Amino acid sequence: MTPLADILARRIAKTGPMSLMDFMAECLLHPDHGYYTTRDPLGAAGDFTTAPEISQMFGELLGLALAQSWMDQGCPAPVTLAEIGPGRGTLMADVLRATKAVPNMHAAMQLHLIEASPTLKAAQRDRLAGYDVTWIADARALPDQPLWLLANEFFDALPIRQFTRDPHGWRETQVALNGATLAFGLSNPAPITLLDHRLSDTKVGDVVEICPAAAPITHEIATRIATYGGAAIIVDYGDWHSFGDTFQALEAHNMVDPLARPGQADLTAHVDFEALARAATDAGASVSRMLTQGEVLGRLGIGQRAQRLAENLDAAALETHIKAFERLTSDAEMGTLFKTIAIAPTRSRLPPGFDT
Ligand code: SAH
Repeated sequence: MTPLADILARRIAKTGPMSLMDFMAECLLHPDHGYYTTRDPLGAAGDFTTAPEISQMFGELLGLALAQSWMDQGCPAPVTLAEIGPGRGTLMADVLRATKAVPNMHAAMQLHLIEASPTLKAAQRDRLAGYDVTWIADARALPDQPLWLLANEFFDALPIRQFTRDPHGWRETQVALNGATLAFGLSNPAPITLLDHRLSDTKVGDVVEICPAAAPITHEIATRIATYGGAAIIVDYGDWHSFGDTFQALEAHNMVDPLARPGQADLTAHVDFEALARAATDAGASVSRMLTQGEVLGRLGIGQRAQRLAENLDAAALETHIKAFERLTSDAEMGTLFKTIAIAPTRSRLPPGFDT
């Protein structure tokens, strides 16, 4: 048993089953034993890898898209350049390198990173040494000024509630005890108003998920963009509409039982892009249609960029580079599993790649 499994089992024994959402929140961000609080989970030696860790091209192309959007809006200053859930700081480092030559851009941008993990904050501080960075714990602390923001694999790490439809309402997935061991259970059925809009497209036995934190965070971001200008690009795995059980645990790049080692495995769920888009529209911003990662990287010129980088590589590095290109773009890998939307003010163009 992990120390966190012990803590949670004692709590459940005392106060009853906990929702999957509370379980996920404790596993990811418990101050002493949480997955993100205690480690850097990224990369080959870790539990999972992400697009910016696979290739510098990802951050370069997104950075240039943000730069073009900033220029389209008349190069305002001062503005916020932010990332939410910045991991090791690799994406932001690539963005900053790629945009260094854009006249006046760095002088206009005040860097803000929204990060909950002290361990990853330290990694970001190392990676972005030399830049003036402000760390904040919450999107609500973003300055009231134009905002250009990136989020890659952030929303999938937010705790979800999961429900199974029943003839008498919805039953929520819970974590309970079976003897001394953690086990999944379902609450008694109850009507859930938050899911009224899913009654028409589900039947008894179907599973749906909601991520209560996602819409308020998107609303904070989109309100600033709608009011002051800016743009956001959100990339994650998921789909337009949440459907089915997508809760999963990864350890050392393998799927594992999410209850086996709480705090030791990465827990995620697919992102419901419709919920993000609705929150942004409610805030008065416009939202692109949802595109695949492969489509957007293609439109931003990843083919040409990949060729250009390939010119200077020896055989071994070239092989890695080609693999990375395929991993980011191909339908069999991240190319279609990962989706993306952009948010912009209704009066402005969407960032390049998203504007059709
Ligand atoms: N964007 C990075 C890392 C993705 S991992 C990349 O693409 O490589 C998820 C990131 O979100 C980590 O930095 C994690 O610590 C952070 N995170 C998770 N939950 C968070 C929360 N509630 N608030 C702020 N950051 C959070």
